[in-house]
Amino acid sequence: MKVIVIGGGWSGCAAALEAKKCGADVLLIEKTDMLLGLGNVGGIMRNNGRYTAAQEMIALGGGDLFELTDKCARHRNVEFPGHKHATLYDVIKMEPTVRRYLLERNINMMFETRVVDVETIGKCIKGIYLHDGTYIEGDVFIETTGSTGPMGNCLRYGKGCSMCILRCPSYGPRISISKRAGVEDLLGMRGDDSYGAMSGSCKLNKESLSNEIREKLEKDGVYIVEIPKEDVNLEKLNIKVCQQYALKEFAENIVLLDTGHAKLMTSYYPLEKLRKIKGFENVRFEDPYSGGKANSIRYLSMAPRDNTMKVTGIENLFVGGEKSGLFVGHTEAIVTGTLAGYNAVRWGLGLKPIQLPTSLAVGDIIAYENDMKESVEGLRKRYTFAGASYFERMKELNLYTINNDIIEKRAKTLMMDGFFNEKLI
Ligand SMILES: Cc1cc2nc3c(=O)[nH]c(=O)nc-3n(C[C@H](O)[C@H](O)[C@H](O)COP(=O)(O)OP(=O)(O)OC[C@H]3O[C@@H](n4cnc5c(N)ncnc54)[C@H](O)[C@@H]3O)c2cc1C
Repeated sequence: MKVIVIGGGWSGCAAALEAKKCGADVLLIEKTDMLLGLGNVGGIMRNNGRYTAAQEMIALGGGDLFELTDKCARHRNVEFPGHKHATLYDVIKMEPTVRRYLLERNINMMFETRVVDVETIGKCIKGIYLHDGTYIEGDVFIETTGSTGPMGNCLRYGKGCSMCILRCPSYGPRISISKRAGVEDLLGMRGDDSYGAMSGSCKLNKESLSNEIREKLEKDGVYIVEIPKEDVNLEKLNIKVCQQYALKEFAENIVLLDTGHAKLMTSYYPLEKLRKIKGFENVRFEDPYSGGKANSIRYLSMAPRDNTMKVTGIENLFVGGEKSGLFVGHTEAIVTGTLAGYNAVRWGLGLKPIQLPTSLAVGDIIAYENDMKESVEGLRKRYTFAGASYFERMKELNLYTINNDIIEKRAKTLMMDGFFNEKLI
């Protein structure tokens, strides 16, 4: 059975890995020259409820990528406003590490290859077309192309897109595969009812900070300094996609995290104002280059799905990551991608795809996000184990724990320990 995964971000890597573990032939197609997509500017793992989710996936046998991020950690058990026990992986080491891991498992990968269209027969996809006209047939398809819109959004919304990371002008714009197959995209909304939302962070060049700040950041993993009162802008918290970072502490302080670069959790901070702060006199943005003004508009293209991650209306198309809903984060992309990979193989074998139990956080978030998306209010929210409304729900439902024994016991009680390691073929 041939499973084709389109898009090599965290979600696509997880889907490819899981489909391979289940025994399928897997082809992963990525339009740039690197895996991990937005993950190349990320770094924060295991903060708040993401700890529970990572350990649940490890208990279920789907934890390979979490163990790799742990191996690439620069700092563990870091605290910053509103967040506990975070791991910060090294964004420079991460991509080659994941790439080697997938190669060692004989996952076929094509880079600098953009999928531009699909051929359908009835409600099934028969094959895909690449940018150079090549046609490739498959049995089951997984779309993990993220939720960024085309490059034009940078101009249209005047707020930047994620394409500095995905290098859109060089590798071509993103298109929606599910839409090509005939399914209308869903769009996330902001509080003011406009569409899309911007990231809550960006990167500063570490070398452009003073020695004192750099040393402290590298030692502790976190550096916090107050913003002068006249420069505090609470309003910009409203446009953060990462609602877990829309806390006033992130507007009142400069919060830096060491992910290899200096991750600035106070986004859209004008350079001139930033340079007024002691130790920041020479600072410059690393990513996006326009970080003082703009940042990564996303959630412009999501496919409707069921809780097995199958796209509604297409028989053999599954989705994961931001393409599958208003999920924010690597952990969320890996969880949804893994389930998509597993169920794609089940579908290919004529078996019924499964839902994860809602007594696990990883199952609950998938079902909850789908329910919430039905309402306008739900479309205004983002869903992450790391904070905002979903983390509150985790606590209310007693799903949040950092006790690994409890998490392992949950998996055993459900008879799901090692579940994702099961070979289906
Ligand atoms: C600035 C920033 C910082 C962030 N920091 C963190 C963090 O610290 N921790 C955290 O957990 N989350 C963070 N996030 C969020 C997180 O990175 C994303 O939610 C997650 O990585 C999304 O993964 P994905 O696989 O769904 O999509 P993406 O990462 O968008 O990956 C999609 C991939 O598909 C490829 N692709 C697209 N179209 C095609 C096509 N037609 N053919 C072939 N390939 C295609 C793209 O090139 C890309 O590699 C951050 C996001 C941003 C923007």
